[in-house]
Amino acid sequence: MAEVSIKCPQCGMELKAPNEDELAKNFKAHTHEVHDMEMSEEEAKQKVKMMRGGM
Ligand SMILES: [Zn+2]
Repeated sequence: MAEVSIKCPQCGMELKAPNEDELAKNFKAHTHEVHDMEMSEEEAKQKVKMMRGGM
């Protein structure tokens, strides 16, 4: 099974999920819980795409 991952740009923590949608949700939850940041799901998806494209 393919797995996708990104590193949080704020703290470098690796976030993993089975697909990009789940990864966006994880990233959204992570930035909210750990960094006290709010972003929409759409915004999280775009950032995940950008980060994955850049790696
Ligand atoms: Zn982080």
